[in-house]
Amino acid sequence: MTSTPTAGARPDEVRRHNRTALLRRLHVDGPCTRAALATELGLNRSTIKALVDGLAESGVVEERVPRARSGAGRPSLLVLPQPLAAVVLAVDIRVEQVAIALVGLGGQMLGRDSWNLRGRAGEPDEVITRVIESTRVLAEELKVAPVAAGISVPGVVRRRDGFVHEAPNLKWTGVPLGDRLTAAFGFPVRVANDAEIAALAEHLRGAARGSLDAVYVSADVGVGGGVISDGSTLRGTAGYVGELGHMVINPAGRPCYCGSRGCWETEVGELALCRALDLPTPSPRGRIVAELRALTPDHIPVVLGEFTHWLATGLITIVNAFGPELVVLGDLFTALPPQVVTEVAATVSRRSLVSRAIGGTRLLTSTMGTDVKLTGAAELAFEPVLHTV
Ligand SMILES: [Zn+2]
Repeated sequence: MTSTPTAGARPDEVRRHNRTALLRRLHVDGPCTRAALATELGLNRSTIKALVDGLAESGVVEERVPRARSGAGRPSLLVLPQPLAAVVLAVDIRVEQVAIALVGLGGQMLGRDSWNLRGRAGEPDEVITRVIESTRVLAEELKVAPVAAGISVPGVVRRRDGFVHEAPNLKWTGVPLGDRLTAAFGFPVRVANDAEIAALAEHLRGAARGSLDAVYVSADVGVGGGVISDGSTLRGTAGYVGELGHMVINPAGRPCYCGSRGCWETEVGELALCRALDLPTPSPRGRIVAELRALTPDHIPVVLGEFTHWLATGLITIVNAFGPELVVLGDLFTALPPQVVTEVAATVSRRSLVSRAIGGTRLLTSTMGTDVKLTGAAELAFEPVLHTV
């Protein structure tokens, strides 16, 4: 979010601020008329005209007659962002696969590539080399030159320089990912934790769109979370935050690799779901989802009763701590039967002090699918680009 310029700001600062706000509006919400831009941004029409004319002159936006014309008279021109005016690289490093995409202004994916990580392919050097090479090939194919990159990593990441402190499920420790990719590409590279990146995607383009305070929690091999607070992603010291999967919720529970016992991840992560469903640990994702879908309403409380209890217990603490208006469930949580989600939402609304105070907390499942982190990584890259394009 762009902050309002302070009173007494210089005219060029105000113009730059308004230009970024206008570009962000077009980038996130799509084409729009000048009149609607003036209303939404609270600016007068002559200011909008000057900004749009300037952006059109430099090829960042284009104005076009809308296809579907309503009513008689002169149609309002639509202002459209031009995808090729700024292209960024988005990289989603997952435990078993890497996906990359080149994304244009406005959020359109122009092209993509992905590969599986088996054996040595998952080692940092191999991943870095392949990301660089695949980006070069894709950019040549599409005849574009990315200006920035956003990288999603399932681990503890220092936001300042993209240093991956630990990514346990990838078996990475101390990888200067941001510095190495910045040196190789020659443009700014921002790296963040995958749940933080997914929270950003949900906030800008998904279930939490328009919500200033939201939490995203997801179960994959691990359990992670990202917090949107007052419209921005919450950052801790040096950018380390959001290890919601390692809240200790059951001190008498199973040991966790982090050194604690009874972390939320050990009670509601993929392995916990496998145990609840009486499947081998680990089991393929498709099998877990199929078993969840096959549960009948009568069986759900029997099979998932304990899991539901722990999911609600963790979310009560999260809602009490961050006070979100909604919580978005991602990854494997999207396969949970709707009756589990309804029950968890009811328990959280009943037992969280904060939730009671705000009249209940909405609990939604993500609808962004497997592209959520790729989309979020692109938005991470676009944040500074929107100020300079
Ligand atoms: Zn833990």
